[in-house]
Amino acid sequence: MKKGCLGPNLKLTLPLPPTHHPSFPTFLNEGGGFIDENLLVNADGVLIVSQTELGTPPPVKALDNQLSLADIDTIKVIGKGNGGIVQLVQHKWTNQFFALKEIRMTIEEPMHKQIARELKINQSAQCPYVVVYYQSFYNNGVISIILEYMDGGSLEDFLSIVKTIPEPYLAAICKQVLKGLIYLHHEKHIIHRDLKPSNLLINHRGEVKITDFGVSAIMETTSGLANTFIGTYIYMSPERITGNPGGYNYRSDIWSLGLILLKCATGKFPYTPPDKKEGWENIYQLIEVIVEKPPPSAPSDQFSLEFCSFISACLQKNPKDRKSAQDLVRHPFISMYDDLDVDLSAYFSNGGSTLSTI
Ligand code: ATP
Ligand code: MG
Repeated sequence: MKKGCLGPNLKLTLPLPPTHHPSFPTFLNEGGGFIDENLLVNADGVLIVSQTELGTPPPVKALDNQLSLADIDTIKVIGKGNGGIVQLVQHKWTNQFFALKEIRMTIEEPMHKQIARELKINQSAQCPYVVVYYQSFYNNGVISIILEYMDGGSLEDFLSIVKTIPEPYLAAICKQVLKGLIYLHHEKHIIHRDLKPSNLLINHRGEVKITDFGVSAIMETTSGLANTFIGTYIYMSPERITGNPGGYNYRSDIWSLGLILLKCATGKFPYTPPDKKEGWENIYQLIEVIVEKPPPSAPSDQFSLEFCSFISACLQKNPKDRKSAQDLVRHPFISMYDDLDVDLSAYFSNGGSTLSTI
């Protein structure tokens, strides 16, 4: 993959992160937003600001290409997550569609710095396999993020229609996710932390992109969200649950990828409760199983050797034994169906009904 990974679909030029001025404090400004270092977060968005002299309050200077909430029309609600809703919106002047994600939270002052930093990281990510973050706003306890609109929704939505995804399609999907992870892990040094089917978005062009990287970090640093955040534990690696990644932080995303692939292939979440009829008693019972029991695997009588081996390379309980995204993109499973020229665009557009072509 090309260094820098600049996507052809980046329609607005985003300001580049300017030089770092560690002496800037975080402080609230008049509009109820806040300024952190050289980033201004308020109801008008995240602006990169510049300063002329260190030590004095930063004179605010916005760069071009600012998207404003006043310039967009709401079309409809397209999704709901734990933190809030996602809407389809349209830019009034260019007619371009975007997704507007709102996360409701009370942000206490000590968290401002970290949240501003997360938003800035998200905004600087530019890769065809990662959903573009155009702009973020914070106003009255709501963080709004303007995102690239993915017209196929999430892999979770798609899976609810098709139930299972055959290996050739899965290999093509997985290749794109791995390219996104290589970019996040090895170029941007970002760990996703909340990789799951609803955070992989698809479109009619057959593209698969990772979203919500960094959002989990914001959620985790914000008080009062511990309960609503719990749903995410099901894709969490054993070492993240026990809080001991041992220097292999990035590999926790690979564990989540393994579980996602298994769910897509079999149609079921890979862990089943001890008493199947009753379901999980609580989240702690599931967590205990993830930490204590051997990892799940792909049934070798239903899937190719290559797929089973790929899953096993992802689902190693010790993160040291887990392969990196860079290793996995070269795994035989990823290229074994190349000759079939899999058409993800048709597959996604027809809700999986091109199945007979494989
Ligand atoms: P959680 O809150 O636990 O992370 P989630 O990922 O489902 O769950 P959201 O990120 O709020 O929650 O997304 C909700 C739904 O909105 C997604 O499943 C998807 O259908 C839709 N969605 C999110 N972002 C976009 C986007 N950029 N383009 C199109 N649809 C989107
Ligand atoms: Mg999400």
